[in-house]
Amino acid sequence: MNRSWDADLLVVGAGPAGVAAAVMASSLRMTCVVVEAEQVGAKLRSIGALENVPGGWSTGTALAGALAGDLARHQELGRVSMLSGRAVRVAGHDGRAEVALDDGRVLTASAVVVATGVTALAPKDVPWAEAPSTGCLPLWRSTAEDLEGRRVVILGADRPLGTWLRAHPQAMVHFDVLFPEADRYKTDEVADDPRLRLDLVDRVTVALVPKGLRITAWHPASGTHTFVVDTVLGNMGSKPAAVPGLVVGADGYCPPDKQHPRVLVAGDLKGARMQRIAVAMGDGARAALEPYYRAQALLG
Ligand SMILES: Cc1cc2nc3c(=O)[nH]c(=O)nc-3n(C[C@H](O)[C@H](O)[C@H](O)COP(=O)(O)OP(=O)(O)OC[C@H]3O[C@@H](n4cnc5c(N)ncnc54)[C@H](O)[C@@H]3O)c2cc1C
Repeated sequence: MNRSWDADLLVVGAGPAGVAAAVMASSLRMTCVVVEAEQVGAKLRSIGALENVPGGWSTGTALAGALAGDLARHQELGRVSMLSGRAVRVAGHDGRAEVALDDGRVLTASAVVVATGVTALAPKDVPWAEAPSTGCLPLWRSTAEDLEGRRVVILGADRPLGTWLRAHPQAMVHFDVLFPEADRYKTDEVADDPRLRLDLVDRVTVALVPKGLRITAWHPASGTHTFVVDTVLGNMGSKPAAVPGLVVGADGYCPPDKQHPRVLVAGDLKGARMQRIAVAMGDGARAALEPYYRAQALLG
């Protein structure tokens, strides 16, 4: 087992919350190791249009670049180190916090901020849809070039649909959006877009066939319909990306007040409400302040 003992703070996840935690820690002269499974701002990089973001960034790629630049500056100061890897376990102990990575490394510091965000729901996570595990990527990870000229079914009417359409106003796409009753209230903001057909369904199954993907949809009013499409994308909502070892509530999120005192959670992972970039940044910075003030108190 490979151990590292020398950081004041570990940060898991380099989204807006994790980067804010690392920048705050470094600004307070704490040393900090940031563990990221993909790349800085991995989620942001697929978001084509942003609103209400500190700094006024209007695309996710631009914000992700700015976050990477902030981290790089603190790396140059010698107080932030970046580590590529996936955290598979976090734990708080007397006097230290630990993070185990998928390659067997175990990192130790006086506290850890976990900011792993949320991840897209797959058909297996919802009661109303069934699909093969391959062939159902999240809508918001797709570009206009991926979808133009294809017959596309979207499963679910979650908010990324509106974001995608705003980000690609010129895209010549036609989306058949099959959504459950629970998503009906989210369809208002996209109902006028002529590139969509919105279909309320009780249930949908997707099967791989030689010519593409066969959709069978059960409509509450008109019964069962079967048709074949080129592409099926998921837009069914999200679930917390909780790292094992965190205390998880009944809704799957990780309440901050239930964690070990050396394990802090920040950003989207905390709860379904207030999932915004500004909130994630404020949260990450505040999480890094807790171990700082604890250490100051010990110093007297
Ligand atoms: C389509 C879409 C549009 C949006 N539009 C807006 C908007 O206009 N304005 C706004 O304010 N908000 C918007 N949001 C919400 C915003 O993106 C989130 O609130 C914000 O990204 C949350 O930041 P976070 O740091 O908590 O998590 P994330 O940004 O999800 O970052 C989590 C990071 O952790 C990494 N990670 C996950 N698991 C592990 C692991 N086990 N080990 C290591 N690393 C891991 C991920 O790769 C990722 O980089 C939008 C979201 C979506 C999906």
